[in-house]
Amino acid sequence: MHVYTKQLLEFIENSPTAYQAVDSSAKILDEQGFVRLGAQDAWELEAGKGYYTVQNGTSIIAFRMPAGKIDSVMLAASHSDSPTFKLKAVCEADTGDYVKLNTERYGGMILSTWLDKPLSLAGRLVVKGEQGIKTVSVKVDRDLVLIPNVAIHQNRKHNDGFAFNAQTDMMPLYGMSSAKGSLMATVAEAAGVKAEDVVGSDLYLYNRTPATIWGADNAFFSAPRIDNLMCAYGTLQGFLQSAAAQNTLQVWACFDNEETGSRTKQGAGALWMRDTLERVCEGCGTDLRRVLPASMMLSADNAHAKHPNHPELSDAQNAPRMGGGVVIKANASQSYATDGISCAIFSEICKKAGVPTQSFANRSDSPGGSTLGSIADTLLPMNTVDIGMAQLAMHSSYETAACADNAHVVNASRAFFETAIKLDADGNYHI
Ligand SMILES: [Zn+2]
Repeated sequence: MHVYTKQLLEFIENSPTAYQAVDSSAKILDEQGFVRLGAQDAWELEAGKGYYTVQNGTSIIAFRMPAGKIDSVMLAASHSDSPTFKLKAVCEADTGDYVKLNTERYGGMILSTWLDKPLSLAGRLVVKGEQGIKTVSVKVDRDLVLIPNVAIHQNRKHNDGFAFNAQTDMMPLYGMSSAKGSLMATVAEAAGVKAEDVVGSDLYLYNRTPATIWGADNAFFSAPRIDNLMCAYGTLQGFLQSAAAQNTLQVWACFDNEETGSRTKQGAGALWMRDTLERVCEGCGTDLRRVLPASMMLSADNAHAKHPNHPELSDAQNAPRMGGGVVIKANASQSYATDGISCAIFSEICKKAGVPTQSFANRSDSPGGSTLGSIADTLLPMNTVDIGMAQLAMHSSYETAACADNAHVVNASRAFFETAIKLDADGNYHI
């Protein structure tokens, strides 16, 4: 049961930001014989072969060509980013005694979970060399900074719902005053480049707390970035394990910037996804528009489990539990893309595969979250189901889920990729 969990925890450890999440995924795809395609290349695609393409270093689309013509697309999409803090352009601030770093929020995190724990920096550097300007992904692999709390004696309101301020309370401590001006040299060294060659950067904090498997019967695991690397890794495994299809284009995608609304050139709201599928279809004489009605998207992003201390925060009848199987998320205003048809098709797929499912809905007096599913659908209209694995403390810097669900997401997505949906002239779906 713990094989998938251990693999996931290694993937998370190697993926402190979206840059490394894509690097880690590309490495796995390389090992499986997938061929990397450049956007500027002419794509010559062979039946039965696997390919992938990367955008901005933070989003990735992999696909396996069917043996025959493309009748449908089975696509699983997740996201590579997680809430964190990004360094500002002038990022060192000298207090007179110490050097702290100047950051701003990326996404909507639980601020308090970032305090009093070892943190470090990762992301990418932009480096100028004799060959031109290039990007280098970087992870500073040691405890480098920490955001210290104020003592209880100096803030008696700490336990009374204290509101942390992102500009004043969340600046990480980096060093003594003597360390001023040394940060970029430290990061450059970790990247194996010269500090004077660094001409740009996109650097983020990451939580260094190691992942752990814990609890009675080792039922749970905790780690940074479970949302959404649990779904990214689980659907990737399902994709790689699935048998090649006769007439289905199998696609695994992982997008950046879900946590900030998906509306970037590499986000699920970009034309990139549709362009990529059009390019594949055109290459084999297929009209994508004719393929979409029988196609399906699995928008995979974790769900809120019923909280052991706060069950009242969940809807009474649609409150999933950790370990209970794949969660199907639905929302009347379509912040989740699930509808009656997509829910029915996916439920049938899971039933056939022996994977348990459960349902999630927000409390009717709470707006809840949203996912990339409905955003991607506006550019790529197809039946879409929003799913996820039940977890606690979403957007904490250290989240919790159930080990058993790692097998559930792999098994469900493998069965999904192996399904060929047919839509007949009378509007009946055959799966
Ligand atoms: Zn998410």
